[in-house]
Amino acid sequence: MLNVHSFESLGTYDGPGIRLVVFLQGCAFKCLYCANPDTITFKGGTPTPLEEVMRKARNQRPFFGKIGGVTISGGEPLWQAAELKKLFRN
Ligand code: SF4
Repeated sequence: MLNVHSFESLGTYDGPGIRLVVFLQGCAFKCLYCANPDTITFKGGTPTPLEEVMRKARNQRPFFGKIGGVTISGGEPLWQAAELKKLFRN
């Protein structure tokens, strides 16, 4: 289960090609010019099963082409590293 802030479909700014971007909730860094301040708080977010993330990725796969894919952003994704390891093993 990942605590997700939001999904962005067909993203073109967070990696090569067209991507599904998964913004995770929560970050302990305090970057002066935070890019996503609404993802900082560890409160809120939506607990999301890994299979739901995989389902979205599979649905959007036809749009990824050769260089697109899935980007995990946040927030600070490594706070949920254990779950992400499971996700990327799939
Ligand atoms: S969400 Fe990103 S930019 Fe914002 S404080 Fe955390 S690491 Fe820095």
